[in-house]
Amino acid sequence: MCILVDTLHHYAGRNPRKFVKICHPVAVILGLATAVLLFLVQMLHVAPQLLSDVLCKLYWMLAIFIMYNILGNMLACYRATSSVASLPEDRQVPATEEKHLWHYCDLCQKMSPPRSWHCKLCECCILKRDHHCIFTAGCIGHNNHRYFFWFTFYTALGTGLCLVSTFILLVRNHLALQLINFSTFLDTLLFTITLFAWVATVVMLSFQIHVVYLNNSYYQILDRTYDLGIRSNCRIIMGQRGLWTFLSPTIKSPLPHDGTQWKRRHSE
Ligand SMILES: [Zn+2]
Ligand SMILES: [Zn+2]
Repeated sequence: MCILVDTLHHYAGRNPRKFVKICHPVAVILGLATAVLLFLVQMLHVAPQLLSDVLCKLYWMLAIFIMYNILGNMLACYRATSSVASLPEDRQVPATEEKHLWHYCDLCQKMSPPRSWHCKLCECCILKRDHHCIFTAGCIGHNNHRYFFWFTFYTALGTGLCLVSTFILLVRNHLALQLINFSTFLDTLLFTITLFAWVATVVMLSFQIHVVYLNNSYYQILDRTYDLGIRSNCRIIMGQRGLWTFLSPTIKSPLPHDGTQWKRRHSE
């Protein structure tokens, strides 16, 4: 896994445009196909074998809610840009009293606000840049961090449910009856795919919980410069409605500022 990530990083650094052209569609299609496959298998194959009619319907509703949040947050994440260029023109230059906090980006050839940094793949500076995500085909930053958090949360929850139910099915239907057939092979394959997806998303989710908790970023996971306490940190990323944004990506939750002015831990 680490070798794969390192190779991707190396290739992305050397051929950013080619990387975006190839890896974005591949990663997005792979992610969507896995989500739809796991959803359909759960609903049509696993749930009917494990649950009664009533419970099966409840499980369907839960699964639809999870899928809605995975796909909705993924789309919202893609559509909400955090590039410095998305700011109103008068906010793309620092006010006199903020000038000392901004830095010059050699690649954009203009001033950039604090906590923003350049992404070679997006070819622009990103407000409070967290990281570049190939599964949402863009950078995670000030304006779409909330959507990425819930996208990761619901993917971890969904794959976790699939993992438990597939494991129960495997034990109950096959291992207990000591049957090894094509169906066992398919269920084992499904279990393995789900396990990989679950581990990857749980690792990312634990990083993101830490990022929200300390108001830092994926590449500065130990930084506490902007840690204003859990309530404020949460509102900075999730917006005015805080954790209620878990209900839906369509909930309006305005952010406290435009991503150019950052209060530090020990400043007033
Ligand atoms: Zn830049
Ligand atoms: Zn990027």
